[in-house]
Amino acid sequence: MIVGNWKMNGLSAPSRALVSAIADGLRATPNPPPVVVCPPFTQLAVLGPLLNGTGIALGAQDCHPAPSGPHTGDISASMLAELGVEYVILGHSERRRDHGELDETVREKALAAMAAGLTPIVCVGESADQRAAGEYQDAVGWQIKGSLPDNFNGIVAYEPIWAIGSGVPAPVQDIADMMGFLRAELTRQFGEAGKTTRILYGGSVSGRDASDILPIAEVGGALVGGASLEADAFLPIVRAAI
Ligand code: PEP
Repeated sequence: MIVGNWKMNGLSAPSRALVSAIADGLRATPNPPPVVVCPPFTQLAVLGPLLNGTGIALGAQDCHPAPSGPHTGDISASMLAELGVEYVILGHSERRRDHGELDETVREKALAAMAAGLTPIVCVGESADQRAAGEYQDAVGWQIKGSLPDNFNGIVAYEPIWAIGSGVPAPVQDIADMMGFLRAELTRQFGEAGKTTRILYGGSVSGRDASDILPIAEVGGALVGGASLEADAFLPIVRAAI
């Protein structure tokens, strides 16, 4: 699975052009993997109708834990579901950084997403300091424990913060080690269900290195930021997943 996280990018005309170029590329690609685009909230209603029959699913970048109520500026999971959204990214490190989101909030958001029929994509990943201090497994282990509810039915994205937006993905060996660690943690926490939870890697994935990263054991796809903003950069990643 390849998921594009557009972050805070995309006015209507270029967003429409981008999904139409991705759709064209997918039509020309035999047996493409599942593809999800996660534009900003403002583009969800614009793009939803354009995705019918393209094989591209719609995702959002956040939701509020409550179904409705006095939360100015927030968007609930059921509001997303009503627009045809199927996935929602939760606990991205940029939200943890910019909005002070804690594991507990992410967990509540995941519950709200599942209750609305959405698939949460919960992001975890250590900082550069935690890696340098050798505390990266503890850090990610605590995030997994704190951010995923007991009945978790979704996707986990491992995104080392130091690799995001750096232009250089984490080394293959580091990804492989963390994937093994995450699979063991998920299995410990969720038993049989944890053995099949999809795990994505995210952090500066591009068409140059996708074919090194995607075959790593336990990698079930990629969460792509910068390279999801142009079809010419995104489609080679999609094709590397076949
Ligand atoms: C992200 O922020 O989810 C991400 C993976 O970004 P980039 O690919 O730009 O590092």
